[in-house]
Amino acid sequence: MSTANSIRPEIQDFSPYTPGLSIEEIKQKFSLERVVKLASNENPLGVSPLVRQALELHASGVFRYPRSGSPDLRQALSEHLEVPEGCIVAGNGSDEIIDLLIRVCARPGKDNIVIFEPSFSMYRLLARLCGIETRKVRLDEDFHFPWFRMLHEVDEKTAMVFVTTPDNPTGYAPPVRELESVAARLPEKTLLVVDEAYMDFAVPQQDYSLLSRLADLPNLVILRTFSKLFGLAGLRLGYGLMPEWLADALIRVKPPFSVNILAEVAGMAALQDRPYLEATLECVVKGRELLSKELHRLGCQVCPSQANFLLFRPPLSAELVFQTLLESGVIIRPLKSYGLDEYLRVSISTTEENMLFIRELEAVLHG
Ligand SMILES: *Cc1c(COP(=O)(O)O)cnc(C)c1O
Repeated sequence: MSTANSIRPEIQDFSPYTPGLSIEEIKQKFSLERVVKLASNENPLGVSPLVRQALELHASGVFRYPRSGSPDLRQALSEHLEVPEGCIVAGNGSDEIIDLLIRVCARPGKDNIVIFEPSFSMYRLLARLCGIETRKVRLDEDFHFPWFRMLHEVDEKTAMVFVTTPDNPTGYAPPVRELESVAARLPEKTLLVVDEAYMDFAVPQQDYSLLSRLADLPNLVILRTFSKLFGLAGLRLGYGLMPEWLADALIRVKPPFSVNILAEVAGMAALQDRPYLEATLECVVKGRELLSKELHRLGCQVCPSQANFLLFRPPLSAELVFQTLLESGVIIRPLKSYGLDEYLRVSISTTEENMLFIRELEAVLHG
């Protein structure tokens, strides 16, 4: 018997998450001096000065275990969001919260989850790892959410429905009343998990976020992350907001130290750094307008976005455009793994990097 036979069948043909390419990797491969990465929706301004200070200050404490459950961070988040501490679960990225939700709420071999297609791949990957069926509902032609078809896929065995808003990779955000109405129409035991990873970039946020409805909707879970606006992608920090009975269950089974000491203090410092957060927002909102206009000018079809990235369809083969940009030192995101072969996604960055991208794209398209 080969050792592979002791691996569960769904693991044997499991294809891993496809991450954005790294700067070092591309520098080496094409012998480039300068490479810009506009592929993973990271904060364009780098690390927050307050976060850097907090990391230096707490470096000498890393020989200790963290406190279990990240109590200081939960308290800070509770004040920041005006949500009771008991409703907050901190995780090693929101990826950990997705994993916990699936394992706590869905019974392997019995229950299912419902997602849109295309959507963020972690939902189906983690469901598969857990032996949970994933039901996929194709987005409308304009990438809006087909609620009617989605509700049609839901049954008594649907543990949860995942909705990303603003959506990745499209940038689309539905009006908040649509989500409220869906929450009310799901079976009592089905959770509506709303992934608000990019909600910080939506303007005005209250038109799109369900945060203020958390106390009124008993089956609502909201996911948030420190990886995007707060600039902590490499430290891994995210959280979920949910009813207290569910938060209790997640916290009981969660690995006790999955949020490390530095991530916790960095998260608290990031919440405090108003100038950094405001500068990031201004950069993204301005950059979104500028890039969108420039992409149009170059003959690309651009999707309206409430996030810190743009989905666009170039007038030439997306694969060719992606490869040529890569060789000139600009990494953006091809969307083959999302089934959107003709589209590309670009993260919004500083004016300098945005314009570098546009110049290189112009050279590919008209050069
Ligand atoms: C980036 C992103 C996240 C954040 O994941 P972390 O594990 O917190 O880094 C979550 N959901 C979506 C849809 C994302 O694009």
